[in-house]
Amino acid sequence: MSFLTLTHLEKTFGQNRVVKDFSLDIDRGEFISLLGPSGCGKTTVLRMIAGFEQPTAGGITIDGKDVTALAANSRNIGMMFQAYALFPNMTVADNVAFGLKVKGAPKAEREARVAEMLALIGLADLGGRYPFQLSGGQQQRVALARALAPRPSVLLLDEPLSALDAKVRVSLRNQIRQIQQDLGITTIFVTHDQEEAMSISDRIVVMNGGVADQVGAPFEIYNRPTTKFVANFVGTLNTFEVEVADAASGRVMLAGQGLTLPNAPLAARTGEKLSVALRPEALRLGRLPDAEALLTAQVTDVHFMGSVIRVKADLAGAAVSLDTFNRPDTPPPVVGSAVEVSLSGR
Ligand code: ATP
Repeated sequence: MSFLTLTHLEKTFGQNRVVKDFSLDIDRGEFISLLGPSGCGKTTVLRMIAGFEQPTAGGITIDGKDVTALAANSRNIGMMFQAYALFPNMTVADNVAFGLKVKGAPKAEREARVAEMLALIGLADLGGRYPFQLSGGQQQRVALARALAPRPSVLLLDEPLSALDAKVRVSLRNQIRQIQQDLGITTIFVTHDQEEAMSISDRIVVMNGGVADQVGAPFEIYNRPTTKFVANFVGTLNTFEVEVADAASGRVMLAGQGLTLPNAPLAARTGEKLSVALRPEALRLGRLPDAEALLTAQVTDVHFMGSVIRVKADLAGAAVSLDTFNRPDTPPPVVGSAVEVSLSGR
């Protein structure tokens, strides 16, 4: 049985229906991300689970208990927000102890739990400091410790990394995932950053206009998007116009070159024009033995990113992106030059 269930959740603000028929079953210990563009309703779903917003319709259960009408402070949920959510006039230790104090936990228990939580987040020595004496990343770790201290049954994270710089963001997201797995706590994470969602989630819910467009493991969402929105929102897509050469076998022609698409038979007639979308990794720079087609493209832009170089090019009139690994002995292609591109339908 699922640990957390959302059943036909709806939320309307005035005339604005911001969450529509949203259902989701979450297992105990699962890490779920709600991913989608600004305004798609991610935070509203989270706030309904927390009890800060009452659903217009639908229900929420946690561990078999209907909590839909329960006040926020009776739901045993831990929350962590974007940033600056610590009490500035309290020490780190008092911040972490806050939820336990509200619950009326005795002093000895509070002190033991604070020590345990500060050790968990790697800040055992900083209990006496005030938030302003901490870096942004440290403050967010304290916020995580504060959310976890009362031993909530569900952890809700609302863009907790978005105010941090890139390096801290990556290190903290790994730490959050590690702690979440160690504690086995059911977690829902709101983000608009697809890389973040893909790197730490068991499953991702891609939201669009208040609706769950697709729910699946990151591998599935990226490789088998079920809607155009998901395909475009998650990862980069190269879109080409092709002509169907043989619908039954999935054979198409792109700029005079044959290519077999994996999803045969195609839902189109032979001779018909089709729009085909390929991930950057289906295109390779140079002549590859296992590739099916070889085309020439004009380089329009080069982004050196370290281990990977993203090359943008004009391929038979289509703007394409492809990634190539950095090799220290081979300089990246030059803007304006012609390159050979191998294409694989897979
Ligand atoms: P973001 O990533 O920008 O935070 P989001 O996907 O989390 O976006 P929500 O914050 O859930 O989106 O907002 C969804 C829609 O609901 C938005 O159009 C927002 O303006 C509207 N909305 C949210 N809260 C309220 C409210 N209390 N009253 C009226 N409208 C609201």
